[in-house]
Amino acid sequence: MKPALRRILRDEQTLQYGVHPLRAVMLSGLARSVRQWIEGLDGTRDLERVLDAANAAGLDEIRARSLLDQLAAQGALHDAATSPAPLRDLTLAERDRLRPDLDALDLASTAPEGGIGLLSRRLKARVRVYGAGRVGAQIVVLLAAAGVGHIRVIDSGSVRASDLTPGGLTWSEVGLTREEGAVAVARRLSSGGRTPGIGTEPPDTATPQPRSTVPPTRGVTSPPRGAASQPPGAASQRPGAASPPGGASSPHATASANVSPPSGRAARPTARPSAIPSPSLTPALAQPSPRRGPAEGNGQRSAGRPPRPTTASPGTAEARPTGRSKSRRRIDGQDLARPAVEVLAGGTYLGDRSDRPDLVILAPVLPLDGVLVNELVSLGIPHLLASAFEGHGTVGPLVLPGETACLHCLDLTRRDHDPAWPIVTARLGGYPPGEIACDTTLATLVAAEAVGHALAHLEGRESAVTNGTMEVTPDWRWKRGSWPVHPQCRCMRNNPYSLRMVMSPHRD
Ligand SMILES: [Zn+2]
Repeated sequence: MKPALRRILRDEQTLQYGVHPLRAVMLSGLARSVRQWIEGLDGTRDLERVLDAANAAGLDEIRARSLLDQLAAQGALHDAATSPAPLRDLTLAERDRLRPDLDALDLASTAPEGGIGLLSRRLKARVRVYGAGRVGAQIVVLLAAAGVGHIRVIDSGSVRASDLTPGGLTWSEVGLTREEGAVAVARRLSSGGRTPGIGTEPPDTATPQPRSTVPPTRGVTSPPRGAASQPPGAASQRPGAASPPGGASSPHATASANVSPPSGRAARPTARPSAIPSPSLTPALAQPSPRRGPAEGNGQRSAGRPPRPTTASPGTAEARPTGRSKSRRRIDGQDLARPAVEVLAGGTYLGDRSDRPDLVILAPVLPLDGVLVNELVSLGIPHLLASAFEGHGTVGPLVLPGETACLHCLDLTRRDHDPAWPIVTARLGGYPPGEIACDTTLATLVAAEAVGHALAHLEGRESAVTNGTMEVTPDWRWKRGSWPVHPQCRCMRNNPYSLRMVMSPHRD
């Protein structure tokens, strides 16, 4: 069972894994021996031995396999034999830091390898961030925090006091360029607890990268947000932890059964009474919790931690202290491996195959540079726009050139509604206009939302901001806007599947 899932014993025959109504699964109608077999799925045995144990518990192979398959399909189970290779390059301190992200990735994944596969994709990803002001610097830091392995920051403007935010540039970076400053902050975070400069290149020495042939974009900013992780190979490292020998857990388990009421709102027992002999598994969302207003789900995952089960949930509860003390020892000692996250200032030519970004994030501090945008489209590089000004924040669209609406499509759509729009953007010098009246909360929200969508793209998940945007309003509501491909835009002309190639009578 995934270690990040809290185990709650509802009664002698009912086990719940996970707390959030949309995540938790409940197993009901369990005989005591079967329940103990499930509680013992801690990754220390191979499938054959697990099936043997099921047999001993009175569950035949077909039913045992079916139950395991259901648990896997619900995202409650992963294969503990998955190679932890992607984690080997991480220092222990970095593993500890990334643990919540890995935990979250693990819960999000239904693949056998769980979150490790997704984290591995992050570690290999190349992302460039254009603009490192209030939004962009936070995006850089969030990307590094989430374990994106190769980050370049492009913004040659100087750090001003007005660029500082809690999650981005600090007073220490005033006087540096914004790209150097964002790199310095991100490195402090991902340096494994060492003071900057020890075991990592100091920001100054790393910065002199050849500048892009593209003129450095004038300010762009978009913040990403990290995900969570699970302790590397935790499942397999905790022999015996989850299954107190001899069913010793049951007396305690009974005692801890009263843990369930706090979370009860979520998982009200669709309870199959024990009448049914074979165990049944249900997502524990019998009573979906009341949805709040139109707000996006984002900030609302408040699934507060339930009181720690006294003894019932050994796996996750005990693991943490141990890991922490270990890593601290390493930090103080010789733990000087190269950081797994590489953050550099400046960029090579965007079309350079050896350093081609998987994603570019545009977080303009000043009006968006149309030349850069055209280059991204012509090179076919996916790019995500994040902007915040005058109390409004926007994340998206994520442009997959030749496949989804581009930024020029959006401009053409705006022109359809406002014929003078081209004049307005010309006067501004580009659109969006940069960080105007971009307050701290807005900048932080936009940064986090942008990184969430960036990570989703890097992990191969479908994005909610292709052909669309997420917009936050001054009263902190999020809404999605739809932006279809504009029939007059050139962006689809090379797409052989696009009828616009032959249909579009207009040029722009
Ligand atoms: Zn277009």
